[in-house]
Amino acid sequence: MNIFMSIFRTDKIPSLNRIPKELGREERFCERCGKRTEHIFYLVPKKVLMLYVKDHPENVHTTCMVCARSTILTGEDRERILGTASA
Ligand SMILES: [Zn+2]
Repeated sequence: MNIFMSIFRTDKIPSLNRIPKELGREERFCERCGKRTEHIFYLVPKKVLMLYVKDHPENVHTTCMVCARSTILTGEDRERILGTASA
């Protein structure tokens, strides 16, 4: 029973860090839809040397809720979304 619990714990904790965290939703222009649609913003962890790192330059993704097209946010958009999420 003790062995089972320790396996369960070491497996469970790192897997939680892989799950993208929703930062919020807002309308933005979708290239595939050709119009403004509602998008979800995600903070996406990256695996580095067996660890999942949340803070890396391509950690904010957005997905169109109409066509499911996914893009990586950069520059001002990324800063703004991270700013609203932590506020
Ligand atoms: Zn779309």
